[in-house]
Amino acid sequence: MNFMQIQTTATQTSGALFEAARRLIPGGVNSTARAQWSGWTPHPLFVEKGFGSQVQDVDGNVYIDYLLGLGPMILGHRPLAVTQAVVDFIQQRGTVFALPTADEAVLAQKIVDALPSVERVRLCNTGTEAVLYATRLARAFTGRTKIIRFEGMYHGFSDAVYWSKHPAIEKAGPDSQPYPVPQGPGLPAGVEANLIILPWNDADALKAAIETHGNKIAAVLTEPVMCNTGCILPEPGYLETMRAMTEKAGIVLIFDEVITGFRLSIGGAQARLRITPDLSVFAKGLGGGFPVAALGGRRDIMALVDDGRVSMAGTYTANGIAVAAANATLDELSAPGFYDALDAVSDRLRYGLQDVLTKAGLPAHVVGIGALMQVWFTTRPIRNYRDAERFADQQLFDRWWRGMLSRGVLFHPGAYENLFVSAAHTQEDIDATLDAARDVARELAS
Ligand code: PLP
Repeated sequence: MNFMQIQTTATQTSGALFEAARRLIPGGVNSTARAQWSGWTPHPLFVEKGFGSQVQDVDGNVYIDYLLGLGPMILGHRPLAVTQAVVDFIQQRGTVFALPTADEAVLAQKIVDALPSVERVRLCNTGTEAVLYATRLARAFTGRTKIIRFEGMYHGFSDAVYWSKHPAIEKAGPDSQPYPVPQGPGLPAGVEANLIILPWNDADALKAAIETHGNKIAAVLTEPVMCNTGCILPEPGYLETMRAMTEKAGIVLIFDEVITGFRLSIGGAQARLRITPDLSVFAKGLGGGFPVAALGGRRDIMALVDDGRVSMAGTYTANGIAVAAANATLDELSAPGFYDALDAVSDRLRYGLQDVLTKAGLPAHVVGIGALMQVWFTTRPIRNYRDAERFADQQLFDRWWRGMLSRGVLFHPGAYENLFVSAAHTQEDIDATLDAARDVARELAS
């Protein structure tokens, strides 16, 4: 395997494509996370193709890929079984029928078997949709309107939750009672009246909010591991306390497992951390690279969909491609030892990076769980979004990212994103990554 030493000068085809694209496509890209202002400077890399743990850009540079499509490629790029299942389905059966296929119940059974908290499940196309339906179901079930969500998390881009993702903290109120801050213009005024924004990992703030607004709160919506402000783990007992408080107050606990689902274990973060939410949302890992999401949970809550009291619709939901991909992906993920092997490779990377950065004398914490991690450049532990804003060195992260990219290691330029590991990553990939990290760490420390 030959990892090329790439430099900005060697990505001129990407640069030219970007200049051409931005004349037609706002920002030159089709999602915020790929935009220049999300860190991809001087321009995003344009991809030629992916294969296993690697991607090749249009200039012929090959990278070990820890971006992994921002999470879905848990089996690596072009996983044979999933690709074949999708091709077979398209060629032999079709794509969209607006009628059910037998394969949907087969998939539902696999999801229910994997997740003890999920008694029944509906499919959606994206995480954004699934979160939207989860909050709607919670409101319909409880007859209440308010949703608690946490500063720095991301639950998709719908008006109802696209708040307080990355607010400027000096404009976002006190630490223990942040104000809702819209993620940009265009969100309708008034939506925030139904949102309570809290700092994460703070059981006292949660307790106070439930004491004040308890009988108006429909749901607490949280990622079980905070993945949209880098990687922040729940402190011991925090999720247990959240579970106990919500249960007592009749509040629906929604786990947004769009990133953690099918990544931290076949039962997601909830199985790994042993917490049982009422509703859960899954997406990325479920489809092995194809667009599919799911919302599942308690039988009595999901029953609202049975007779159409809460309607869940969509031309493309449970289309043939999505269901074939998810069925094949879950078969792969269910293979004995799958997560042990994935964790072993991921741990080698996480501990290896920590060792390299510590030995170089850099103030770094590599935080993660299983095949999910991020490097924090800080001397202080990061518990929540405001800690990250105050104590994490974003400039050092930027130099780290550039150094690694120039040595053929790809991950997102944002310190608030994650490194993902796939089943296709090998020990050789990790060793090559650590070699690159050693180089970059030396450079940063000098
Ligand atoms: N929830 C979380 C935790 C996410 O990270 C994301 C996307 O990154 C979403 C929801 C939205 O999912 P999608 O991009 O599939 O709409």
